Amino acid sequence: MPSLGRLWRRSIQARVVTSTILLSTLVVTLTGWALLRDVADGLADSRRSTAISEARSGFDYAQTQLDAAVDTETSTQSQVLTQMVDSLTRSRGASRTYELVLEGPLLTEDGEVPIRSSAAIDPDSLPRDLSDAVRSGPGTFWRYSDLALLGSSTRDASVVVGSQLRAPGSGDTYALFYLFSLADQQETLDLVRRALLLGGIAMVLMVGGVAWLVSRQVLDPVRLARRIAERYASGNLEQRMHVSGEDDIARLSSSFNQMAASLQSQIRRLENLSRVQQRFVSDVSHELRTPLTTVQMASEVLYDSRDRFDPQTARSAELLKRELDRFESLLSDLLDLSRFDAGAADLELDLVDLAQVARDAADDPVLERAGITVRLVGVEHPAVVEADPRRIDRIVRNLLANAAKYSQSPVVEIRVAQNDESVSLAVRDFGVGLSGDEAIRVFDRFWRADPARAQGGTGLGLAISREDAALHGGTLQAWGRPGAGSEFILTLPKPEGSAKHPPLVSVFA
Ligand code: ADP
Repeated sequence: MPSLGRLWRRSIQARVVTSTILLSTLVVTLTGWALLRDVADGLADSRRSTAISEARSGFDYAQTQLDAAVDTETSTQSQVLTQMVDSLTRSRGASRTYELVLEGPLLTEDGEVPIRSSAAIDPDSLPRDLSDAVRSGPGTFWRYSDLALLGSSTRDASVVVGSQLRAPGSGDTYALFYLFSLADQQETLDLVRRALLLGGIAMVLMVGGVAWLVSRQVLDPVRLARRIAERYASGNLEQRMHVSGEDDIARLSSSFNQMAASLQSQIRRLENLSRVQQRFVSDVSHELRTPLTTVQMASEVLYDSRDRFDPQTARSAELLKRELDRFESLLSDLLDLSRFDAGAADLELDLVDLAQVARDAADDPVLERAGITVRLVGVEHPAVVEADPRRIDRIVRNLLANAAKYSQSPVVEIRVAQNDESVSLAVRDFGVGLSGDEAIRVFDRFWRADPARAQGGTGLGLAISREDAALHGGTLQAWGRPGAGSEFILTLPKPEGSAKHPPLVSVFA
């Protein structure tokens, strides 16, 4: 049964209760067995000693009777014997505590031993070794035995006491057996056994119940701790455990609460730190903007008048303008990123046709000037998504600019495709390419494969593009092979769709 197996694996309480029940059953069984054996031995022993003393007085009486009957006539002797058995049988009273068997005379010519008995006892069920012991000489002998009545299949547990009698007149010997039934003792034993069984079952159930209660007492707070830990894991750190008393559970609860409080304060501290850092970057970028604009304006003036300068100063004016432009784009990238980090970036949604975006980007005169031809694939049909046109345009232009920058061939390819869920746009170049590790790292901030080859880039373009894609619920992924080129695939979800299954697969995948 799978549910029982699951319960066993998952519930400490089930394991504690089951093993307690099993162990207490074992203990109760062993104790009960030992107790029952003691009671049985005690009952049999006391019955045996009263039986032996009762039988002895009977033997004495019988021997006296035989001593008195000096007549050797067989018929007279037989009469005496019958009377003797009758009178001994009568003296047992109404409770019929014993039966009698008289065998003898033991040595007759034809070997047949006459038997007189108070009940129809099967003489063969008398223990043979007891008969032999009685025949061998004087003395009182006893055995436990299961006796059978003639014509009955049931056997009755009994203690048999036997002794030899001698008739002085004829010199004949007889064996007289007292058969004391142990039925009463058996009944008492059955009663004790039943009481022990019921008591044992009740005790095992009670012990099981106690184990259940005790384990619950210990496990309830642990379960509560588990539930609260699950809540912490899902980000809700407000919850605390109830602490009462000073026991281990209370100490566990208070340690748990301390841990939660310390976690909460650490997280708050880190959140604060990260907020301060974001704020710092954003403030610095803002603060630098105004002086930068002023410096840029001054540099424009110098740049415009460079023809009047000597060549060295003119070159400095050009350098100054180029580096200030780069500085400005770095500042605006940093501001963009700090807006993403602060969750302040917002989307101005409109319907955007990625096929059209691809066509427009391909017509960029910058590409033409760089001698790059864009090959367009799959742009015949509109591929419309709901997106922020400015951000999508920025992503595609950034990918194309990179492709042009790192391409070693004059051709760059843009593919557009769509399925029910999403639209993809892939930009592929035939340039230096990317290794598997680089294809993952290209999106890291300030990461550049080869800073010497970076051709004035900031290392933030792809990081911003990926944030832009994520803001739309989309993805931007990179593939490549060193020396063979790279491919970047932007996937944006259609309304109600997801970007999980892009309609395009990279040629390098
Ligand atoms: P950068 O301004 O340096 O281009 P990006 O974030 O756009 O910053 O790119 C980061 C780095 O990724 C680049 O410096 C370059 O090493 C690598 N990279 C980007 N695009 C390509 C490409 N098409 N082929 C090869 N490497 C590329």
